[in-house]
Amino acid sequence: MATCFWLRSCGARRLGSTFPGCRLHPRAGGLVPAPGPAPGPAQLRGYAGGLAGLSAALLRTDSFVGGRWLPAAATFPVQDPASGAALGMVADCGVSEARAAVRAAYEAFCSWREVSAKERSSLLRKWYNLMIQNKDDLARIITAESGKPLKEAHGEIFYSAFFLEWFSEEARRVYGDIIYTPAKDKRALVLKQPVGVAAVITPWNFPSAMITRKVGAAVAAGCTVVVKPAEDTPFSALALAELASQAGIPPGVYNVIPCSRKNAKEVGEAICTDPLVSKISFTGSTTTGKILLHHAANSVKRVSMELGGLAPFIVFDSANVDQAVAGALASKFRNTGQTCVCSNRFLVQRGIHDAFVKAFAEAMKKNLHVGNGFEEGTTQGPLINEKAVEKVEKHVNDAVSKGATIVTGGKRHHLGKNFFEPTLLSNVTQDMLCTHEETFGPLAPVIKFDTEEEAIAIANATDVGLAGYFYSQDPAQIWRVAEQLEVGMVGVNEGLISSVECPFGGVKQSGLGREGSKYGIDEYLELKYVCYGGL
Ligand code: NAP
Repeated sequence: MATCFWLRSCGARRLGSTFPGCRLHPRAGGLVPAPGPAPGPAQLRGYAGGLAGLSAALLRTDSFVGGRWLPAAATFPVQDPASGAALGMVADCGVSEARAAVRAAYEAFCSWREVSAKERSSLLRKWYNLMIQNKDDLARIITAESGKPLKEAHGEIFYSAFFLEWFSEEARRVYGDIIYTPAKDKRALVLKQPVGVAAVITPWNFPSAMITRKVGAAVAAGCTVVVKPAEDTPFSALALAELASQAGIPPGVYNVIPCSRKNAKEVGEAICTDPLVSKISFTGSTTTGKILLHHAANSVKRVSMELGGLAPFIVFDSANVDQAVAGALASKFRNTGQTCVCSNRFLVQRGIHDAFVKAFAEAMKKNLHVGNGFEEGTTQGPLINEKAVEKVEKHVNDAVSKGATIVTGGKRHHLGKNFFEPTLLSNVTQDMLCTHEETFGPLAPVIKFDTEEEAIAIANATDVGLAGYFYSQDPAQIWRVAEQLEVGMVGVNEGLISSVECPFGGVKQSGLGREGSKYGIDEYLELKYVCYGGL
């Protein structure tokens, strides 16, 4: 747990001289909140039509540190992945801004940790209310910067806001323990205290919810945060900052330092190795997670890691085909296949295989509509960038070259360079890339199997384990398979499993820790044992 005394007694002077470029001006009592003007036309020139008419207060381009909107020496462009249109230029923070943000968060922690749980709860609730009041604008920001269909973006905003609501409730339910030891003159107490400053690094695929799932828990526990959002999607993180400020969340509790991909490595290292940071919370790829784990190891910090997956989707002979197809559509094609819990491999038992593949292909053709996320009826938006399209294309070509059959789709979509056709492959075998690499796109490869043991062996033959799904009407099989799948979350006859009330997280190289649920707040709390003697 971080110690505020350390900063006050010796750290402040040391930090002041170490970071001469710091734009913050700490005063006694903390940093001065200054809402600052909304960005001018020059910064926002080129906003796509989808953002026209949006509240300027929510379209922020500066970093948000210590309650102030601060420009950086450089900016980076953010683009609409559907049209390629420039959405705006955003502050490109570097190491000095990152350290300044950590310092602001640390100073705020010293007072935030003393705020009563009831007051923290009430402020989180206000933040939640403001998200709901601004849900349409927030959803449009998500669609503009990530390409996600507007209906799904609305869904994300509710999911995101519900984390603030949930943790506003959990804030008041942090309890300790009293333990009776063998010594009659002693009592043992267990206190739960906030960890300190959390460095929060998030991906582009849920630009809002991946932040609140962490920040809701951290702020409820009494921690403060420095958020580094993904280069592709900084606007959602900055809009959350504006609403946090409007809600009365004190300056320095929620800080956002956007940066370009070019700066991500050094900014990430700066916040993850800073001695004033006690906790790293990351959502993203397993590759990046391992880099951050090295940072954590060197400075011995607490970690939460929500990393990649390779979800199996198993259909047993006893399954209801219609139910399985509905689940397959939902679990595979949400966010155009770009979620960590998206099914990556379909394992279908021989007896039901042909009926499932036929019905799945028909359902895909009927229900999946590729288009700009702002257009009515679009269910499949663009992928985040052309590199993502290249990966899907590579997986399809590799599978076909090794004997897979294209049932539907299979190529880039004529709408633009970031679009790919929803694709179904059959005759897939385990030597194909798509069965052991996360595709993160609209590709559903089907492997045929004969026995339950074989399905379990294929499903578990990977070093990651986030989500897994299976369809069966056999109660004994349901128990067996649910217990044997090496994943953190299982959908039984269900393709959509995320909910703020339930623990989200993976096993093996899919991560460490759980988010959401009654367990999520523990990630931001330390246990302190107090031995009370002389009784
Ligand atoms: P990523 O490349 O790991 O990026 C995630 C975040 O880390 C971004 O903010 C990125 O910044 C930053 N970053 C990249 N390299 C860094 C470094 N060396 N040091 C510090 N920060 C660094 O992941 P992604 O491709 O954006 O997201 C997709 C991955 O996330 C998939 O594997 C998916 O399964 C996983 N994911 C997991 C969950 C979960 O809950 N388990 C949820 C969503 C996504 P830039 O944007 O500037 O590169």
